[in-house]
Amino acid sequence: MFSHVKETIMPVDVREPDARFGQFLLEQFGGATGELTAALQYWVQSFHVEDASLRDMLQDIALEEFSHLEMVGKLIAQHTSKIDQSKVYEAPIFAVKGIGPHLIDSQGSAWSASYVNEGGNVVRDLRANIASEAGARQTYEALIKHCRDEGTKRTLRHLLTREITHADMFMKALDSMGRLTDPFFGTVQPDDTVNIVFNLSHGDDHRGPWNQGNFRYVENPRAEGGLPPAPVNPDDEKIHRLAAE
Ligand code: MN
Ligand code: MN
Repeated sequence: MFSHVKETIMPVDVREPDARFGQFLLEQFGGATGELTAALQYWVQSFHVEDASLRDMLQDIALEEFSHLEMVGKLIAQHTSKIDQSKVYEAPIFAVKGIGPHLIDSQGSAWSASYVNEGGNVVRDLRANIASEAGARQTYEALIKHCRDEGTKRTLRHLLTREITHADMFMKALDSMGRLTDPFFGTVQPDDTVNIVFNLSHGDDHRGPWNQGNFRYVENPRAEGGLPPAPVNPDDEKIHRLAAE
């Protein structure tokens, strides 16, 4: 069941509307790192998670992301609606499609379900979610750097903060399964190359915890697979070689 409360979690109060900044904000409405992506990603993941506590967490965060989508949408509406039409025409997207928000990103590309990263394993999902939160946080930082309106900035800072909280929650959830620092998950055991690191980019090589300790560092890797079978294609064109002289 869904129920909706019209008040927003935090105030959305644009003092100086700026249609061009409204176009920037579309990135978090209909863009890859945006709130619709986050909301639908966690929501759809929750359907295939067996553990009730993890399902509950995903649904709590999914609903918060929907409320973020609402706040970003209201920011865009305020940045594009309460101003003289000539200003709106400085932002081509709103000149063409009318006042926002719309389900497009800042460049006008339509939102796509291919932005959503989910699969049938909760460890895979939670790791994808950490990356999603990092992307959302980064976009909010970029938006804040370009924002001149104090009211908008306050809202964006709250939205950025919450993405940090969500990343923390996903990390704690992985940790509770012993899967935050252990890369292995699933049921298929890896082969014996699992601890090998190949030094494949030569020159100015560096060592660190990612290729030391339990890792076996191969300084000069050699191909061990032999030549694969040549392709067989009877329809392909042939080179007509001259008879041997
Ligand atoms: Mn969010
Ligand atoms: Mn989030």
